[in-house]
Amino acid sequence: MTILLLGSGGREHAFAWKMLQSSLCTKLFVAPGNAGTESIATNVNISPTDFDSIKTFVLQEKIEMVVVGPEDPLVKGIFDFFANDNDLKNIPVIGPSKKGSQLEGSKEFAKEFLVKHRIPTAAYDSFTKETVEKGCRFLETLQPPYVLKADGLAAGKGVLIIQDLAEAKDELRNMLVNEKFGEASSKVVIEEFLDGIELSCFVLTDGKSYKILPTAKDYKRIGEGDTGLNTGGMGAISPVPFADDILLEKIETRIVKPTIEGLQKDGIVYKGFVFIGLINVKGEPIVIEYNVRMGDPETEVVIPRLKSDLVELFVAVANEKLDEVSLEIDSRSATTIVLVSGGYPEDFEKGKVISGIENVTDSIVFHAGTKADNEFVVSNGGRVLAVTSYGNDFQEAIKKSYQNIEKLHFDTMYFRKDIGFDLL
Ligand code: AMP
Repeated sequence: MTILLLGSGGREHAFAWKMLQSSLCTKLFVAPGNAGTESIATNVNISPTDFDSIKTFVLQEKIEMVVVGPEDPLVKGIFDFFANDNDLKNIPVIGPSKKGSQLEGSKEFAKEFLVKHRIPTAAYDSFTKETVEKGCRFLETLQPPYVLKADGLAAGKGVLIIQDLAEAKDELRNMLVNEKFGEASSKVVIEEFLDGIELSCFVLTDGKSYKILPTAKDYKRIGEGDTGLNTGGMGAISPVPFADDILLEKIETRIVKPTIEGLQKDGIVYKGFVFIGLINVKGEPIVIEYNVRMGDPETEVVIPRLKSDLVELFVAVANEKLDEVSLEIDSRSATTIVLVSGGYPEDFEKGKVISGIENVTDSIVFHAGTKADNEFVVSNGGRVLAVTSYGNDFQEAIKKSYQNIEKLHFDTMYFRKDIGFDLL
């Protein structure tokens, strides 16, 4: 098959790496990709949200499947764009429909879905500019800290957790009245704060049956000891050591099954990944968010642990025959450590020459924000590389990643040195 993969992060490099191990994938294009995908596939300079250019390219190259990495094209409706176009309708898109993508595109939609299908989630209410004062009164009924969520996509920055009531009210006004996150905060969900440990559950579904992929935990904050600003993710571990069989059973029966059944009951077409963000509150898993694609950097630990053929799984998703294929998981642990540009997640410089990748042994270097510049690979984003390793346990895997990071260099390179330490 000739396949087009959309996206340019570490997630897409990991997908590309895995898809190319399949005998079903004879040619892989990545739009726009990075230096890592360029080294194993063919990069195409098209934006994942430029549907018209994607159409032209797909027809020209006789693409037989499109795999979507990031959320933007999904929320903008790439699945429906293909399904409703006479020339494209027979080409499967791996990703949910526009309606299904609302699980990530609108926090309010997701909360309504969760409540309707009786899936455990934090108590909430939602507010607009017109009901801002009601929102302030709702805050008064809650205990701190206060959780405010912009309804729409806000590049991972739309959730505020605030200790002080007066500040929470100010921020609510800021979001609704002053449009702090633009259109994304024209509606705000306020929800009860959940105190527990986070983990992520990843599911692949054809809309009828599903496969639960390995669990993962990511490290969101820039600073060691989980301090400082939120980032796209500084590292990840799979499996999550505290996710025992009892917790996994609860996650499947109370959350995954009702989610897939809920999609079916609501007539929502969904052929792709569901990423369920959970908080484990005293052994009870509670949903804090849905994402409609894989996480990054979690993909860089989840995908390397799949023994099954990823393209075969995608074909089964497209044909609604996921129940006919088996999912095999590598029993080893995998960890990834993300190397970022100094200054990230605030201002940082690009174009720094990266050296040492060829010296890495026994780890996989997935590229995120990189590009090829003549014979060099240079940094091209905040998150630059993700160094993934396997181990008999996560400690062994982490040790390998840190040993290999010593061989890597670029000016201003920064990484957290405490990934996994909270789990020891
Ligand atoms: P979200 O984009 O909904 O995942 O929220 C971003 C982050 O905010 C999550 O990863 C959690 O760390 C935190 N968060 C979101 N909702 C809650 C909640 N109800 N209680 C505690 N923390 C939360």
